[in-house]
Amino acid sequence: MITFLSGGTGTPKLLRGAIRVMDRHEIAVVVNTAEDIWISGNHISPDLDTVMYLCAGVLNTDTWWGMRDDTFVTHDDLQRLGIDEFIAIGDRDRAVHIARGELLRDGMRLTNVTKALCDRFGVRETVLPMTDTEVTTQVVTDLGPIHFQEYWVRGKGTLGIREVVRTFAEPPVAPEEVLQAIEGSDAVVIGPSNPITSILPILECEGIREVLAEKSVIAVSPFIGDAPVSGPAAALMRARGFAPSSQGTADCYGDLVDLFIQDIRDPVRVKEAVRYDTLMTDEEKSIALAEEVLRRTGEF
Ligand code: GDP
Repeated sequence: MITFLSGGTGTPKLLRGAIRVMDRHEIAVVVNTAEDIWISGNHISPDLDTVMYLCAGVLNTDTWWGMRDDTFVTHDDLQRLGIDEFIAIGDRDRAVHIARGELLRDGMRLTNVTKALCDRFGVRETVLPMTDTEVTTQVVTDLGPIHFQEYWVRGKGTLGIREVVRTFAEPPVAPEEVLQAIEGSDAVVIGPSNPITSILPILECEGIREVLAEKSVIAVSPFIGDAPVSGPAAALMRARGFAPSSQGTADCYGDLVDLFIQDIRDPVRVKEAVRYDTLMTDEEKSIALAEEVLRRTGEF
């Protein structure tokens, strides 16, 4: 068993390869939920949705969110009715959010809701939310604190960031299922996700660091030079006091990581890191990197 720690773009690209070269029942994915948001009474979990849709074979891999060939009839009608949801939610995607919201309101834990939805989609991998309670990444801007989705989707990442904070009613705790998955794994892979908004929220869940400390951990950098392959990671890294680079990523994860992987093109030199082509521009490249990463996990 290999456990991946995942956000909603970089690590799913690596998973796209892993599911082609591994026994799919031997894959567990612990997914960031700090970008979750309730919209129109429904529960959106962007990273869980992306991982679940990928494993179900229905993900729109042009955007890495939402379902392939989805329609937007409800979204368009809502806009005509004066409801600006600010995130374009497809009709089939929305059905998942409605179902998740209903099950959560019925009192089901997010872990069990995720399992129920994954079962319906025929997902063979074990997909686990990092925690069962609500925790939110907020970006403190000149306008005050706003939800990360508001910053990135509505504001298009243009506002200056003073600070990145996590808000919650109770400190997030890793569910037993997450701890067991990690404990039962031969190795853990931190994929090339945003360190600040995708990976740190997972590492901040009570119990995670302790089980990870006992495991061999491989991390893949999402940076090449001083820029991430995509997204707002650079500004967020700076706001948390890390250099926006592979070195900053390595510093951010610290001694949790046993093997650090950076891109062959990366001009930044991270001590003792190994290098591969990490740009997963198509499925073949995802498979090639997944094979290398898995080969490395066999070396521990
Ligand atoms: P989010 O939840 O949508 O922010 O997605 P993630 O946190 O999982 O991934 C975002 C990160 O993925 C960004 O910082 C990108 O630099 C990184 N990324 C995206 N595609 C690639 C790729 O092909 N290779 C590498 N190395 N990083 C990538």
